[in-house]
Amino acid sequence: MIYLDYSATTPVNYDVLESYIRSTRDFSGNPNSLHSLGVKSKALMNSAIKQISDIFNVLESELTFTSGATMANNLAIIGSCLANMKQGNHVIVSKLEHPSIYSICNYLESIGFEISYVDNDEDGLINFDDLKRKIRPDTILVSIVAVNSETGARQPLKMIRQIIKKENSQTLFHSDMTQALGKIPVSFHDVDLASLSAHKIYGPKGIGLLYKNSRVSLTPLLYGSGSVNLLNPGTPPVPLIVSFSKAIRLATVDLDKRENFIKRLNDRVIEELKQYDDIKINHSKICIPHILNISLMNIKAETFLHALEEYEIYVSTNTACASGEISTSVMAMYQDVRRASSTLRISFSHLTTTDEINKFLTYFRMIYQKLSLLKKEE
Ligand code: PMP
Repeated sequence: MIYLDYSATTPVNYDVLESYIRSTRDFSGNPNSLHSLGVKSKALMNSAIKQISDIFNVLESELTFTSGATMANNLAIIGSCLANMKQGNHVIVSKLEHPSIYSICNYLESIGFEISYVDNDEDGLINFDDLKRKIRPDTILVSIVAVNSETGARQPLKMIRQIIKKENSQTLFHSDMTQALGKIPVSFHDVDLASLSAHKIYGPKGIGLLYKNSRVSLTPLLYGSGSVNLLNPGTPPVPLIVSFSKAIRLATVDLDKRENFIKRLNDRVIEELKQYDDIKINHSKICIPHILNISLMNIKAETFLHALEEYEIYVSTNTACASGEISTSVMAMYQDVRRASSTLRISFSHLTTTDEINKFLTYFRMIYQKLSLLKKEE
């Protein structure tokens, strides 16, 4: 098998899985219970949370565990809108967000909020002047993804924060950092709110994280009892928190070394694929090397994906969460419907080998020739 879909999800790291199994087996008490089993579980959970807060240099109380990045995005965006309705009803997002953000925006519009979409250039970089123009006294929140999930376009969050705060110091800044964590350095100090997900960094599926600066208040969307955390009440999933903490520790080291290796793989694939007449490479200077997006101008991406799958090679058509639709990110970058209609995303990892890339390229050529021929005969 050649797995080149690491941006959809990652295989769980063995040590992370071990820590999940161990904490499930040896810490069965509810951390909210007063007896010694509960106390033991709570101590383990708190030490895992402390490790995460140390890595990001934030307070433990600023971290809320969620079911994933989708839930973190919901809590952050809807929660801040509901909490700040007196200030206004205006929200700004980019045109390069994950589909979960647009679903939230649709909901917000249905209850009376106004959403503006900030422009970007052909590289995928946010247009700073447009952002400045769009921020108003009633702008509650700006949400801009750190790394785009389809093309890997990376935004300069620190600079974006400065622009936002200069225009309106009350406007909150949220970033979906799901595709950034474990690939590039992330800093929560660049934002007021951030979303993360464990399954993108070789962690377990079913847990994510919302960072919320202590000065920010959100209206909770969920109500319950028995939790130290007001935003996601209920019994905390101790093994998920413990193994997520382990995954974060493992994923945030050697980033430069891993990136250099991945860049060589990515360069090699680009070098090869740019020789094809009917393929466009949707990769700009601000795209991180872990994600490579291409447009198959004459072949349906889905057909190509399934043809690769016959050889146990796995890639994705735009994002796994929006399969079958036109790529909004490629459209936002190139304004070209045809280019955005048949995109493949190839995503690499430090686990990818040169041998896998060579095999991938060989099968790619073979399938491309076969499907191009079929197309001509149609
Ligand atoms: N945001 C981004 C940028 C993503 O890539 C994804 C996963 N495709 C999500 C949010 C959703 O994450 P989760 O699966 O943890 O809900």
